[in-house]
Amino acid sequence: MIQLLDIHRFFQVGEQTVHALNGVNLSVEHGEYVSVMGPSGSGKSTLLNIVALLDQPSSGRYFLNGKDVTQQSDDELARIRRDNIGFVFQFFHLIPRLTAAENIEMPMILAGIDSKQRKQKVGQALASVSLSDRAEHRPSQLSGGQLQRIAIARAMVMQPAILLADEPTGNLDSKSGLEIIDLLEELNRQGVTLIIITHDRNIGERAKRRIQIIDGVIVD
Ligand code: ADP
Ligand code: MG
Repeated sequence: MIQLLDIHRFFQVGEQTVHALNGVNLSVEHGEYVSVMGPSGSGKSTLLNIVALLDQPSSGRYFLNGKDVTQQSDDELARIRRDNIGFVFQFFHLIPRLTAAENIEMPMILAGIDSKQRKQKVGQALASVSLSDRAEHRPSQLSGGQLQRIAIARAMVMQPAILLADEPTGNLDSKSGLEIIDLLEELNRQGVTLIIITHDRNIGERAKRRIQIIDGVIVD
């Protein structure tokens, strides 16, 4: 379902060229559970951002469900992302002035789903992360673990087949972190393809398939 062929990503900063990805080849099948580990600065986030269609490679090809997504317009990429990919960040990226319910609703507003259906799906999404009693809370009124559960509910509300998480427990205590991993793994058991970047060896080793990346190259 995800196929990366000889992906390179350069960043030009002043005189410096950073070679963040250096010929990455990777295939991930439907329903897989993959962890990505590697030192800081090794290219993990760059890789996941490209898979998420949040960034474009400098060279190489990316096929998503057999379709080349390397040469698409921004509108087309946004549509493909919306229909296929959920993303969870280390720092949650919720909108501070919106309530938990409104944050979860946002992707459906962008997708043009009608209000009645949105309300129903928000209710289901809140229940699925056990936060029905926090619908009207704003991000500043929630704990880290709760924020990440809301972020997962938002990522999943359009029912994407792929869920990508960049250090989803990096900003949480170990207990909340494990709850988040349990939730992500439950989604994977339900069939969602899951790719998690983590620094935490204990978390990384839970994945059925583990990828090690060093200096922009997959080494293992
Ligand atoms: P990781 O997530 O493994 O810590 P990243 O993928 O964030 O690593 O970064 C890989 C390398 O690319 C680093 O050297 C980083 O400084 C560089 N880099 C990442 N994003 C940018 C950017 N937008 N502009 C310039 N350099 C970047
Ligand atoms: Mg990173």
